[in-house]
Amino acid sequence: MTEPLRTLRIEEGCISCNLCEDLAPRVFEVVAGGECRVRPGALEAVAADDELRAAVLEAAESCPVEVILVDED
Ligand code: SF4
Repeated sequence: MTEPLRTLRIEEGCISCNLCEDLAPRVFEVVAGGECRVRPGALEAVAADDELRAAVLEAAESCPVEVILVDED
């Protein structure tokens, strides 16, 4: 069973590179002309899907400005 993430949010400083949305479009949305946001219901979606959880963790590790905050515990 997939463990839920305690925290999933994006701090200020996103450069709208689209990487996270490419990796996990069900979770991340880069608003046109703006910064990235976490879609409503993303935590629940991640808790039900191991592959999606892995994609979110990869996005957090890969974000070039390290603004995706994930807390697994
Ligand atoms: S990977 Fe980071 S910088 Fe790129 S769109 Fe996502 S939050 Fe913004």
